Amino acid sequence: MDKIKFIEKLKELDTNGKTTLDLYNEISLLAMKYGMQSAKPFNGKNAYYLSMEFLIGRSFYNNLLELGVLEETKCVLAEKGIDINVFEEIEDAALGNGGLGRLAACFLDSAAGLGLPLHGYGIRYKYGLFKQAIENGFQVELPDDWQRFGDPWSIRRDDEKRLIEFADMKVYAVPYDMPVFGKKINRLRLFQAEGSAEAEKISEYLYPADDTEDGKILRLRQEYFFSAAAVGELLEGFVGQHGKDFVKFPEFNVIQLNDTHPVIAIAEFIRLLTKKYGMDFADALILAKQTFAYTNHTILPEALECWNDDYVKKILPEIADIMIKIGEYAVHEFKELGCRKEQITDMAIYSEGRFYMANLAVYIAKTVNGVAALHTEILKNKLFSTAHKFYPHKLQNKTNGITHRRWLELCNKELSELLDKTIGRGWRVDITCLERFNDFTEETIDEFIQVKQTKKEQLLKYIAKAEGVKISADFLVFAQVKRLHEYKRQLMTAFAILEIYYAIKSGELRDFTPSVFIFGAKSAPAYKRAKAIIKFINEIAAKVNSDSQTNGKLKVVFVQNYNVSYAEKIVAGTDVSLQVSTAGLEASGTGNMKFMMNGAVTCGTMDGANIEIVEKAGKENNYIFGATVEELAKLKEEGYNPSSFLSNANHKKAVESLIDGTFSDGGSGEFKELYDSLTAGASWHEPDNYFVLYDLECYVNTLIKVCRDYSDKKLFAQKQLINIANSAYFSSDRTIKEYAKDIWKI
Ligand SMILES: *Cc1c(COP(=O)(O)O)cnc(C)c1O
Repeated sequence: MDKIKFIEKLKELDTNGKTTLDLYNEISLLAMKYGMQSAKPFNGKNAYYLSMEFLIGRSFYNNLLELGVLEETKCVLAEKGIDINVFEEIEDAALGNGGLGRLAACFLDSAAGLGLPLHGYGIRYKYGLFKQAIENGFQVELPDDWQRFGDPWSIRRDDEKRLIEFADMKVYAVPYDMPVFGKKINRLRLFQAEGSAEAEKISEYLYPADDTEDGKILRLRQEYFFSAAAVGELLEGFVGQHGKDFVKFPEFNVIQLNDTHPVIAIAEFIRLLTKKYGMDFADALILAKQTFAYTNHTILPEALECWNDDYVKKILPEIADIMIKIGEYAVHEFKELGCRKEQITDMAIYSEGRFYMANLAVYIAKTVNGVAALHTEILKNKLFSTAHKFYPHKLQNKTNGITHRRWLELCNKELSELLDKTIGRGWRVDITCLERFNDFTEETIDEFIQVKQTKKEQLLKYIAKAEGVKISADFLVFAQVKRLHEYKRQLMTAFAILEIYYAIKSGELRDFTPSVFIFGAKSAPAYKRAKAIIKFINEIAAKVNSDSQTNGKLKVVFVQNYNVSYAEKIVAGTDVSLQVSTAGLEASGTGNMKFMMNGAVTCGTMDGANIEIVEKAGKENNYIFGATVEELAKLKEEGYNPSSFLSNANHKKAVESLIDGTFSDGGSGEFKELYDSLTAGASWHEPDNYFVLYDLECYVNTLIKVCRDYSDKKLFAQKQLINIANSAYFSSDRTIKEYAKDIWKI
């Protein structure tokens, strides 16, 4: 079937009396047939990306775009009286939580686009990340039953299912293959757990609650389940093709571990080589060192997997033995390198009854990479400083990226067309061409202002429909959309908005450009403070939006169920991207890159990839504020006293609104708890652990400055435009090329 044939078939499609869902499935299957015929096996070296999360979003539009038939399909459907946007009712496949999972999806997209053989391995969760509703200001979690729409983009492979064994149960890992279309067709293989009811639980939920022993064991099972299925089939496939000459295995395979969740794959690899294929332990260890590479995504301790040995011994006794043995080899090696005792402890894989999975990864992996320049420096100087001293070549940086196909071509057709017109279509294939946009004229700026206005209107119209909040498209649009976490400091934005609100109300702030603050965020279900922050923002929104004295100037909206599809709309329609994490804590961020590429200026801290964004687009075209990593380190040393900031009357009023009855937390006491976290701390952390009060004043001033600058619309648009023109570096095409060259050698 060639493209003409595909379009013919599409024209022949009988749409009468069919539901959107029927049509979605039929068109998708037709496109699969069209796309898959050019799939061919590849015999060279492949890279495999093991990840707990793949936050794919909607496949329909993206796949049609990659197959080069999106516009044609749109036209054919229009002739039949069907608007292609009706398929927006098909919900996202949200098999991920946030940035880490979205990165995995962007990487697969870029690799296919570049024709590089990179394949994904993960879990086919029955329920993805919960669907969020906001009721009475509180987050409500609903199951995400994404499969009810059908799954036309996957092919179930019963013939390739594998048995995964735990001490107490056996589970089938049944592959579902999703093609990733591009110059080359790669594959995302997601395993579904089948067998007993107990076994099926393994692929039921993304991140099941792990505050109980059962929950922790389930999570360990998940990690082992897909890692073992992946490693098992890679070794078996190798033997089928090349026999048992495993020395050659790394010539054909490289395995990238996306964060610490799949690190257990290393132990399984060695287990299979020694137990199933009869290799010496020492040889298997060397082979593992040539095969695995590891990406660290965060320095927050909660994301660095660490297992109690009784859990591992109970359900995976052979894996426990192997990890203990790897730990012994490591200690031996560390001693030979001349490590001191405390250095050995620092790098320990097995110590005092616990397995440190990040240390296991760092010891084995041939490369360890951070995800932005600053983050990699922190890994080198802090988290993995000992390892860096003894293995100076292991650590390297690979600044994250985003696929410009989804995050520009697909989500911003209007801007894409403006680019085509001014710099030619070349950027769609080679994103570095975007640079030419730096030679803009007055006319380009005017046209860009028009594009931004159109995208803003589309976004605000959608928000009015989905959230019931009406906002004028003349407003300046700020957005802070990302997972809800204290370190991302949505709470600081909330306080800043309150201060601005009171200042407008009192008449103190007169020349404030009418602005809307858009929030979108899900909180982990058990994360009480994050949920309290959601409620607090919604309380502020209710107050601000209903105040007729100010609501011509200031509005706040918290959108429900922030996900990839929502993000596609928000990044295109936003003027100012809020990236205000505590310096040193946002490893990279990728939301910041999506906004930049769509012409939003960054208002943020010197953290993660923000630093590189302003390096490329110029500090003068963005709004940087707040304490740096160095300042915060010094402050911690000297002793930080957040309460002193409450002597500022504006801060006091904003912060005390948590406890003075201005807002209601429905009697839950959670606002008081938030207040205490800032002023008193808790047993496990200092007061205002994330320096919200420290950075608040300069944040408010920066926001006000952004508003003032916006009154010169042309100058502001010029800043936005320069951001677009210098965003090519943040395409994941660049990132993937670096991985391919420096790590994977594919
Ligand atoms: C890009 C993206 C993220 C990551 O956002 P950050 O601002 O980098 O944390 C999270 N969720 C969704 C749905 C995304 O598209």
